Amino acid sequence: MSKVIIISAPSGSGKSTLIKALMAHPLNLHFSISATSRPPRGSEQNGVEYFFLSTDEFRARVANGEFLEYEEVYPGRFYGTLRSQVENQLAHGQNVILDIDVQGGCHVKEVFGPRALSLFIQPPSIDELRRRLEGRGTDSPEVIQSRIDKAAFELTFAPRFDRTIINDDLEVASSELLQVVEQFLSSER
Ligand code: ADP
Ligand code: 5GP
Repeated sequence: MSKVIIISAPSGSGKSTLIKALMAHPLNLHFSISATSRPPRGSEQNGVEYFFLSTDEFRARVANGEFLEYEEVYPGRFYGTLRSQVENQLAHGQNVILDIDVQGGCHVKEVFGPRALSLFIQPPSIDELRRRLEGRGTDSPEVIQSRIDKAAFELTFAPRFDRTIINDDLEVASSELLQVVEQFLSSER
């Protein structure tokens, strides 16, 4: 049976980087493209990293019951997992990987239970998180500050996840992630 891998962490912890590295391995992993009301940043393209919607479109889809879960992750910025994405992927026998905020991650784990593995990616410190967000160079100082402000709250969610992976050295975190996911995907249920 195909399975669900949930990756959650404060923004800037390295989720996207780790997911990209993991997806280079032949694990039949397919990324669940979320919808968001934030604008694209850097080289992001509609339908690749996200489906970029206006706030009104996002609300209309909420009202239409199209989301498995959604959150206002930052003030005025909505993000949500589309039911159609995950259900189609699972129906095609694909393992689904989600990059989703900590509250959404807990929600999706509740929905899928043992069919899902929830992983919390922890940054070495809040100072390092700030350095990474600044180094990424994709967000304004105000946006970076709002992400830092939320990080301490988000870190309190770690115990609710199946497992925490500390992303200090990227190579170490990457191989730990690979090993944990391979083991989960090859287990019986
Ligand atoms: P997220 O998806 O969690 O917001 P990203 O994957 O975009 O985070 O990573 C944020 C920034 O930190 C990127 O510039 C990335 O290259 C860098 N980064 C990721 N992991 C590490 C690491 N272990 N050490 C140093 N820099 C890292
Ligand atoms: P970013 O703006 O950096 O791409 O994402 C900000 C936060 O929103 C990250 O923590 C990311 O994991 C989260 N996120 C992305 N997609 C979803 C989603 O579908 N649902 C929820 N709840 N959070 C999401």
